[in-house]
Amino acid sequence: MRRKLVAGNWKMNGSLAANAALVAGIKQGLPADACDVAVCVPSPYLAQVQGEVAGSVVALGAQDISAHASGAYTGEVSAAMLQEFSCHYVIVGHSERRAYHGESDAAVAAKTVAALQAGLVPVVCIGETLAQREAGQTKEIVGGQLDVVLDALSGEDAARIVLAYEPVWAIGTGKTATPEMAQEVHAMLRARLGAKSAEAAAKVRILYGGSMKPDNAAQLLAMEDIDGGLIGGAALKATDFLVIVEAASGVVL
Ligand code: PEP
Repeated sequence: MRRKLVAGNWKMNGSLAANAALVAGIKQGLPADACDVAVCVPSPYLAQVQGEVAGSVVALGAQDISAHASGAYTGEVSAAMLQEFSCHYVIVGHSERRAYHGESDAAVAAKTVAALQAGLVPVVCIGETLAQREAGQTKEIVGGQLDVVLDALSGEDAARIVLAYEPVWAIGTGKTATPEMAQEVHAMLRARLGAKSAEAAAKVRILYGGSMKPDNAAQLLAMEDIDGGLIGGAALKATDFLVIVEAASGVVL
């Protein structure tokens, strides 16, 4: 049985004061038997939020990682640096990094390897654009994105990733995949994980991301292969984030 995971992706939002209030609100409202919960914060705030979540069940995550260990890579953040702030998760291959920073599937695979080598859990994001969905290419695109990552990993390492299916057309748009649409893709991804290793198919949590909100989370999270959510906008308000955490934790509202 896979434990559900709800991870907030704060993107480039926050301030010292706002972060403190947000984390305090999340900690205060967590249900007793909460699912796994994480907040993925901008790098300058890792030290602050490390302190804010200490002693709670909320895990810390980063939003990107360098494929390189150290050196002349201005602006990049290494796995070892993330470890120093007790990061457990790191998002790799978010569609915003793919679109605005030209990250290729190969670069995402290299970042996934760097994270795993350091003992971090990469949250590997994949997803199709609206044009690709309308052209009937969803399975080919997201399956291909996953395969490039899996080709870089052993079967054992493949079982240690978290996968996030994030249709690009649903991110930040208010448009959500229906539970059935998401489930269809998640089931296909699980089959592809299974072609790599039975352990990966059984263990890898496949999160849905793309305008998951308090009013649609329960239906999405009820689907067999949806093991949690990667939450953008709704992760910035403790009350909204907590409703999603409750839905994933099986709390009857
Ligand atoms: C995201 O950025 O990963 C995301 C899912 O954003 P939103 O929930 O705002 O669509």
